This record gives sequence, C-alpha cells and structure tokens, in this order.
Amino acid sequence: MDTAIVVFTRDLRLHDNPALHQAYVRARQVVPLFVVDPALGTRSANRAGFLAESLADLRTSLRERGADLVLRRGDPAAEVIGLATEVHATAVYIADDVSHYATARRHRLERECARHRIELTLTPGLTVVPPGELRPAGGGHYRVFTPYWRAWRAAAWRSHCPVPAAIAMPSVEKTGHLPAKETGSPGLAPGGETAGRRRFVSWRQRLLAGYGENHDDLAGDATSRLSAYLRFGCVSPLEVAIGALDRPGGEEFCRQLAWRDFFGQVTAAFPDIARKNYRPGPAWHEDRRALDAWREGQTGIPIVDAGLRQLAAEGFMHNRARMVTASFLTRNLGIDWRHGLAHFDSLLADGDVANNAGNWQWVAGTGNNTRPNRVMNPLRQAQRFDRSGEYVRRYVPELAGLDPAWIHTPWQLPPAQRVRLGYPGPLVELA
Ligand SMILES: Cc1cc2nc3c(=O)[nH]c(=O)nc-3n(C[C@H](O)[C@H](O)[C@H](O)COP(=O)(O)OP(=O)(O)OC[C@H]3O[C@@H](n4cnc5c(N)ncnc54)[C@H](O)[C@@H]3O)c2cc1C
Repeated sequence: MDTAIVVFTRDLRLHDNPALHQAYVRARQVVPLFVVDPALGTRSANRAGFLAESLADLRTSLRERGADLVLRRGDPAAEVIGLATEVHATAVYIADDVSHYATARRHRLERECARHRIELTLTPGLTVVPPGELRPAGGGHYRVFTPYWRAWRAAAWRSHCPVPAAIAMPSVEKTGHLPAKETGSPGLAPGGETAGRRRFVSWRQRLLAGYGENHDDLAGDATSRLSAYLRFGCVSPLEVAIGALDRPGGEEFCRQLAWRDFFGQVTAAFPDIARKNYRPGPAWHEDRRALDAWREGQTGIPIVDAGLRQLAAEGFMHNRARMVTASFLTRNLGIDWRHGLAHFDSLLADGDVANNAGNWQWVAGTGNNTRPNRVMNPLRQAQRFDRSGEYVRRYVPELAGLDPAWIHTPWQLPPAQRVRLGYPGPLVELA
C-alpha cells in the first residue's frame, strides 16, 4: 500500500497507538490527520484548552519523526475524503469508539470510504479491553461491575505497539492551524502526551504503592490525575495498566481502569446513556435556586462546596468528592442527574459521555449500581474522608480558620461567629 491516512480522535499520542502503528507497518507513507468538528461545539473551555495543547504536543512529536499533523475543520468524513483525494491515499485507520457521536461518524466514514474505494480499518486503543470483547454467559453486555472485573482480569490483552522511529509523509498543500487555546480554569493541568507520560511515571514512583489505602483521602490528593490524559488518549490505557499491574497498588489501580472500560461497554450497548435513565428512576423536582447554589459551591455544606469549587478552579474533582456532590444533588435535593451531568461536562477536562453519564446514573440510582437506593450522608463522608477538614480549608477560604470540630458543620457555631464567616447556611437539613 502506498499512502494511508491515520485519523487521530481520542488517541492523541505516538506511544502504543494501534491506528498509527498499523498504518505505519502497512503503508509506505502515512498522513496523520485531526479534524476539528464544529458539530461537537465548545461545551467546555477546559477541554478545548487541553485539546489544543495535546494537538500542539502531538504535532511537535510527529515533526520530530519527519512527519506533521494535518489539521482540518469540518465534517470528519468529508475532510478525510478530501485529504485522501489530495494525497492519493487508499487506506484510512481510525480508533473505534462508542458514543452516539462517534458511532454516527463511523457510519458516515464507512459509507464515504466505500463510495471512494478506500479501505477503512477500525483499530482498538481507547480502552484496555475493547468494548464488546467481553460478554456475559447469557450474551448482551455486563450490567454489574464485579463479574465484569473478574472477566477483565482474566482477559488476554493485545500486545503493546512500538513508536515509529521515523514516519514518511507525502507533501500536503496546507497542514492547517492548531485550534486557538481557550482560557479555562486557573489550575487546569497541561495537555499532551509529554505531560501525561511524565505525570504517570512520577505518580507511579511516589504514590502507586499507597493507592489502595489512600485513594479516597480527599486532602491527600493521591490519585493519579491521569483521567484527562486518558480521556484524550495522551496516554494509552493499556500501557498504563501494563506499567502498574505487577507493582504494589497496581491491582487496585487497574480496578479503576476497568471501571472506565466497564462504562465503555455499557455505553456501546446503551448509547443514550447521557440522556435517558438506564433503568427507571424517581420523579425529580425542579429547584432553580438550589441548582444554582450547588453549581456555585454555595450550598452551605462545606464538603459539597469544596468539591464544586475544586471543579471550577482546576477542571478536575477528586472521585470521592464527585460521588458526594452528585449524591447531594440527586438524593438530598432531588434534582435530576442530567443537570449535574451538564455542569460537570462544562468544566471537567476529563469529561466524557461514558464515564460522566455512567457515574452520574450510578450515583442517582438509575444506572449500574447494585444498591440503587443507597444514599451517601455528606457529613459521614466528610468525617471519613476529610477528617481534619484540610480539603475544605483548601477550597473554601471562608472556612479556612475553623478547627476540625466546626469545619464540616459551621451552622453549629454560635450565631455571632457564624455571621462573621460570610458563608451561607445549609440549603437543606441533613439527617
Ligand atoms: C458523578 C461522577 C462523574 C464522573 N465523571 C467522569 C468523567 O466525565 N470522566 C472520567 O474520566 N471520570 C469520571 N468520573 C470517575 C472518576 O471520578 C474519575 O475518573 C477520577 O476521579 C479521575 O481521577 P484520577 O485520574 O486521579 O483517578 P485514579 O483514581 O487515579 O484512577 C485511574 C483512572 O481510572 C479511571 N477511573 C477511576 N475511577 C473511575 C470511575 N468511577 N469510573 C470510570 N473510570 C474511572 C479514570 O480513567 C482514572 O483516570 C466520574 C465520577 C463520578 C462519581
């Protein structure tokens, strides 16, 4: 084969990239392409900023190997065919994905490639185990995590793909501009494969061994913070799993990666996951004022407000805080999970359909939770996972001067002291 196009999507890396590797092995020349699709909109300045940095990093790495990243704007199928015509490509490689959007994109690509006699290859690469590869005995998809985890653990993984040393690329008339960087949260992590690989290596060395014990400690901040790098494929989930599994803490960490794969296969089977209840849920009630207070981190419940303010400040929130804030919105305030999902989606650098919606539905009791009626008490959560109040102090400066006896229940302070704080009273009474 003479020339192949590799369409980068959520696999913005050179290491362990099956689409790039297969094109490189089979074609004499390779054209790396990323299409900015306006149909996806700009739902999140944080993700737009992270994406822009990731593309810049990918372009630099490709240039170092003698190629480039071609950038186009428009409908991906039309742009792929346009570029294929220009460079006389006879093959296209792209990582397979599961969301509504990705499925529609794949169908259009399949149609257009067939019409233009271009060979289209879908590769794995976005998960450790591809969605659909593991099936329960009765068929369909796994609805419950524990049996999925057992199957995931026993599954054979594909082999890791090497990085091409040099990539021959034909000349392209216009390589295109990188998208402009948007201003996002002040504490947003830097995007890109270089930053993601560096983070993984340093986190593994310092914190992986204690992951099982410390991952729920809110102030400890001991989780990998790899989620946005995984979301954009700046790091390979398979490479991270292989790099962690046999070390102390690796099994617990891989269990979290398996959650990511789990929601991928749920989404493949139920593409409406971000819109419709996976299973029937309660009637929600509308309360604009409470929803706004929740979004702004002004609920008067310190642990909830700390989580929401971390999200606004960093485009990231600790997993335990995501659970507590989501449970508070849906269970304590009775507000529809879709409002919470939309707010997370507007700020999370790691925000994606499968993991955001899968987790929101899990907490709201409409998803894959085996105990759908379980309600988290924010105060008990605060006492277990932020005993000293350090997490609250970090993100809720009005309360920074309080000692541990009051930090999670400032409404119990004497009135004169409470007023001086300038912090709202609790939106609801906690049982
Ligand atoms: C309401 C709610 C919404 C969420 N929305 C998202 C989202 O949009 N995108 C997202 O990547 N994660 C989401 N999560 C899952 C989880 O909170 C984050 O993946 C995690 O906090 C990221 O931090 P980390 O990289 O330090 O995780 P680590 O603890 O280091 O875990 C390693 C990786 O495993 C995966 N992972 C960990 N926990 C989960 C989980 N519960 N579900 C799926 N994958 C997981 C992530 O890719 C993560 O980077 C959500 C959780 C909740 C409760």
